[in-house]
Amino acid sequence: MISPLKNRWWPVAVALVLTFAAPGLAQNGASSKAAQPGASEPMSVDGRITVALQQVSAGRIRANIEKLVSFGTRSTISVQDPAASAAGRGVGAAREWIKSEFERYAKDCGGCLEVKTDSFTEPAADRIPKPTEITNVYAVLKGTDAESAKRIVLVTGHYDSRNSDILDTKGDAPGANDDGSGTAVSLECARVLSKLKFPATIIFLTVAGEEQGLNGSQHFAKMAKEQGWNIEAVLNNDIVGGDKSAEQDRAVVRVFSEGLPNAATEQEIRRIRSLGGENDSASRQLARYIADVGRAYDAGVKPVLVYRLDRYLRGGDHYSFNQQGFAAVRFTEFREDFHHQHQNVRTENGIEYGDLEKFVDFDYVARVARLNAATLASLASAPAPPASVHLLTKDLENDSTLTWERSPGGLASGYETLWRATTNPEWEHVEKVGNVTRATLKLSKDNVIFAVRAVDAQGHRSLPVVPVPER
Ligand SMILES: [Zn+2]
Repeated sequence: MISPLKNRWWPVAVALVLTFAAPGLAQNGASSKAAQPGASEPMSVDGRITVALQQVSAGRIRANIEKLVSFGTRSTISVQDPAASAAGRGVGAAREWIKSEFERYAKDCGGCLEVKTDSFTEPAADRIPKPTEITNVYAVLKGTDAESAKRIVLVTGHYDSRNSDILDTKGDAPGANDDGSGTAVSLECARVLSKLKFPATIIFLTVAGEEQGLNGSQHFAKMAKEQGWNIEAVLNNDIVGGDKSAEQDRAVVRVFSEGLPNAATEQEIRRIRSLGGENDSASRQLARYIADVGRAYDAGVKPVLVYRLDRYLRGGDHYSFNQQGFAAVRFTEFREDFHHQHQNVRTENGIEYGDLEKFVDFDYVARVARLNAATLASLASAPAPPASVHLLTKDLENDSTLTWERSPGGLASGYETLWRATTNPEWEHVEKVGNVTRATLKLSKDNVIFAVRAVDAQGHRSLPVVPVPER
């Protein structure tokens, strides 16, 4: 399925590829820049998505973060009785306000969003002195295509906060950046994307209990697994405020993704080990997809992929989804200021501590929201990934044959095979193979990593799927 011209690139030297790169083979020409990660053709831009991104408002994000801070504390173990909620203090007041905000967006789109809560009682534990009700609040933008609507892409942030003492139920814990910023991203994505229709479903989630031990996201992810939800992607935004420290790089946002999948079985781990699949978890394919989105759409901030589950000694809600076998990544500002996280609001030796809104760059949060919205919209517009992707390994041969089942849902108009050197962080080469379920490439499977993705007539791309060997 590959032209003889194209196969010369491998393993021939880069200089030769430049010589042979032909017109009309843009992806191959681009891929000749082997030293440049992600040199393959960026995804096509969807005009509807571009318009939606323009609707993302730093002013709205600012108002939402200030509102969240106004509840004084959003500690999961703070007050949540109706009187406290009415008085506008504590986690219960925050929860009620988030719900009302989603409901307002639902009203504005003629009821297109279904606003729901997921409540449960978390038993007492180290960081939870007594059994505590925890409530996740979310809005569902159901897909318009009966079959594709079963596919879900999800964005989340945690609305609970904390100060220096994880058990402090009363003191101020403004949580403007951690994680008012991520909560504001979920809200703003809901507001702008609810104005569009997508074949697949988008869920805008805000969880509590993160600081006490990822309780809200664990409950939600387990529920999703038990109920058989087909979640293709989870975008967790936690600390995306672009803290205004001098060393901050506001041009980029980090995207963390797990390598070895937390949910992999022993058998899968053995396969990963023997075939060099450590860099190809579903979460990492999602991270690469975000990089692709970042090249196609001008969100104003570029994703920097970090091939690591999370920062040292830290965790986040994406991990809860990874544990249940879902692809999930974490967005976090480039440089965190630890004086402005998990700290009582105070000034000591001239240093201001506390997670106050004055340290948050609302324009930056808006840019991160645009990158999230573009990713959600691209995935929700795209066909499902191809199913049962296999690489035939029965015979020793230098060609490689990939087989797959058609993308479920009928949105796909064709398929593309991707490959890259084992040492390359991103997909380098693309071959359009047409509306088929089998392709043979003049490349040795021993030298590259392959994947297959589905595309539709407008150029929306599914997540790529790395094949499993078939004997
Ligand atoms: Zn956080």
